[in-house]
Order: sequence, then C-alpha cells, then structure tokens
Amino acid sequence: MNTTEKNEFGNSVNTKYRRIISPIPVPESKHIINQLREYEPVSMSGQPEVVWDRAKGFNVYDRYGNKWIDFTSGVLVTNTGHGNETVSKAIIGMVQHGLLHNYCFPSEIRADLVKKLSDMAPAPLKKVFLLSTGSETAECAIKLARTYGTRKYGNHKKKIITFYDAFHGRTMGSLMAGGLPPAKSWIINIDPDFNQVPFPNAYIHSWADENAADYSDEVCFSHFLNALKEQNIKSEHIAGIMSETYQGGWGQLMPNGFAKLLRKFCDDNDIILILDEVQSGMGRTGKLFAFEHNNIVPDIICCGKGISSSLPLSAVIGRADIMDLYGPNEMTSTHTGNPVCCAAALANLNYLFDNHLIEKTFSLGSICRTFFKGLQEKYKDYIGCVNGIGLVWGILFVKKETRDGDNALAKKIVSEAVQKGLLLFAPVGNGALIKICPPLVITEEALLEGLNTFDEAINEVVC
Ligand code: PMP
Repeated sequence: MNTTEKNEFGNSVNTKYRRIISPIPVPESKHIINQLREYEPVSMSGQPEVVWDRAKGFNVYDRYGNKWIDFTSGVLVTNTGHGNETVSKAIIGMVQHGLLHNYCFPSEIRADLVKKLSDMAPAPLKKVFLLSTGSETAECAIKLARTYGTRKYGNHKKKIITFYDAFHGRTMGSLMAGGLPPAKSWIINIDPDFNQVPFPNAYIHSWADENAADYSDEVCFSHFLNALKEQNIKSEHIAGIMSETYQGGWGQLMPNGFAKLLRKFCDDNDIILILDEVQSGMGRTGKLFAFEHNNIVPDIICCGKGISSSLPLSAVIGRADIMDLYGPNEMTSTHTGNPVCCAAALANLNYLFDNHLIEKTFSLGSICRTFFKGLQEKYKDYIGCVNGIGLVWGILFVKKETRDGDNALAKKIVSEAVQKGLLLFAPVGNGALIKICPPLVITEEALLEGLNTFDEAINEVVC
C-alpha cells in the first residue's frame, strides 16, 4: 500500500499514524533552523530538518500540522515512549514537591533509584554511581578499571582494550576508547595504553560469522588474542576491556562463544570487563541488558539513554570492590542523581516492567527480522547487511553490487523517509548504516506501517 500521493509540493501523506501536509523542511520553519545554524556549531546541523514541537508515544509532531512515526526514539532514549505520562507525572511531582537539586547530599529518591538499579543488575553487580551522560559512564568505568589494575598489581597493569568501530562517547577518554579514527584524529597524543582490536563483526571478518560452516569459537577468539600479540600486549598489562554489547554503528552482537571466551580471559587475568549498555540496555534488544543474549555478566555496566526515557541520567553499575575504590568525596559529580532526573528514571523503569515492554520488544523483534530479511532480498544489490535484535536494527546500504558503504544513498533514503512521515536520524557508523529504533511502546500496526514506509522510501530512491 503506497500511502504517499503526489501534490503540488511533492508528497502528501495522511494515515492514522503519519501526516505530511507541507514540504519538508517546512518553509515557515526556516527561521528557526537558520537561527540554530547561526548560533550553534556546524556539528549540530547533521539531522533532517524537522523542527520538533512535541512528541507523544511513538509520534513526533511539528507545529505546522506534520506528524511522523518515530523510528529514532530521539537516539534510543525514549524507550517507554515520548512524553510518557507516568514519567511526566513523576517529574512534575518532584518539581511540585520542591526538590530540584541536592548535590551528593542524601535524598530518598536517589536511594530508591540506586536500589532499583542494583536489584535489576545481575549478581555480583551491586553498587550504582549516577551521572548525567553516557560518555561520563565510559570515563568513569575506564578510571575504575585502571585504578583497580594499578592499585592491585602496579603501574604496568593499565591498558584499556577496546574495539575498532566502537563508540563510547565524545569526551576525551571515551573518544580515545572509541574505535572510529576520524573522530579522534585531533587528539594528537592518544594515550598509548588505549589499544584497539577487531570486533568480531561477521560482515567484515569471515572468522566471526557464526553461521559459516567452518566457524569455531576458539578460532574466532584467537583473532582477539592475535591482535593483542601483534601489538605486543601481554595479559598482565591489561586493566580493562570495554565493548558495547552490540556495536551501535553496526547493530551486531558478538558471537556467544566469543563473549564467553572473553569473559574467561578477563577472569583468568583479573581484567575488568566493561560492557557499555548505554544504547543497548533498558529493554531495547528484548532483554533488560543486551549481554543477557550472550549469557555473560560483565564487571561494570555503563547505562544511560533509555534509563529515564527523558531527562539526562546515566549510571555505572559494578562490583562493590571496584565501585568502592575511591573514598568519600573522591568520585562524585555535581549533578549526580539529580532528584528530578531520578524521579523520571524510577518511574520509567517501573513503567518498563509493569507494562511488560521488554517481552513485547522481543516479539516485535521477530516481525522486524522477517521484514528486514525480505527487504535485504528485495534490494540485494543495495543492502550489504542487516543486523539487529528486538527494536534496534541497522541496515547497511552499499554501492550497487559491492560491499562498500554508500553514504550518499543512505542519506537520500533517510531524507525520502522523512518526506513520507517516517522519522529517521542521519546514517551512523561510517555513514552508510540506517538505524531503525522506535520507542518500545510502538504498536504492531504502527511498526508495520513504518517498515512499509521505509520500503517505499528505498524503492523511490533506487528504482
Ligand atoms: N556509549 C554508547 C554505546 C552510545 O551509544 C553513546 C551515545 N550514542 C554513548 C556512549 C555516549 O552517550 P552520551 O551521548 O550520553 O554522552
């Protein structure tokens, strides 16, 4: 069903879930966009020019009568939906109650939230440190791992191993841990004890393809060990290994066997295993934490984004012996556990569980899998790979009949989708991967409408 009719400005869409009644960008919104361009750095200008006015559930609205199905969750934040009423009420409740800030002084709401997060995490991860952004959690985890290693064994145990193509944030330490060279080319003197190894990405490395007939966990993991060897890195020099549970730029989990051997390698060498669940956590993959798919437990979890579905809050959850390495007032933050943010997060987590959104996400994930496999077949000359689980999918667009990413094509498809009332953010990773990540509250009907719109957008661009 094609729901897009041509009209005098190009397209017009009017369905239960989408409405586009003007050209996009809306000419009347240009002054807002221009003002932003004038006063913000160019770096802020990468997204489709949709001026958000309000957002509810899985819809985003501008003030000119247009309405989108949101497949972004505002970059994987609004897991329980935009403007979730339970979350909004908790925020308003705390504001009206009269506590907007309390630094690191005790407060009941912070006590409730850290207990909740501790209860949610698997044993032996017990202690919770609240921060504001995902990048801060990566910084904190790196600091804790290195402190643990150097205090216990001496200054030689300081290396932080991360993976190529990884993303952990845009602050100095998190960038150094990241695996996208252009993003950190400006850091001339990168810490030589931040080292990268290949992620077991099945698209790039045939040895990581679990479905291949000759795949073996041991061979797959030997590439990790060899990469260390090639860089002259000895296990006794490694303080921590950090990875996103699935790489955001690809949407791919590590093979289970690799994850298990990585866990064992860390156990055998007293290395802190840090899993960055800033994006993959809080039900996004159909499990509370994505590492549950791999059946392993890290030593530190980094959380953010979907933890509150709204206000900025993040958390480092870890083993007590690691989390307690710093004494009173030595590891704090001005905005740690802001009471309004804590209220939002607690309400959000309660909503996530009370409404069984994690289980629902798991089953909507099967619909996505079937759909995307079909899409890959239909556009096999242009889609290099499809990865994903639950309600997070990545579709790599490639130059016709090659394996090379086609950034221009991906960008055009995003733009076409937005014209049709399907909101996508700009392609990620190296610029050719389109991410599909609606709020977990999306209905099956709206999900299917969004997926079909995506198909129409691709069709329009490639045919
Ligand atoms: N880690 C991961 C896996 C992320 O996806 C992100 C954000 N995209 C971050 C860390 C950084 O989070 P923030 O932008 O809140 O600093």
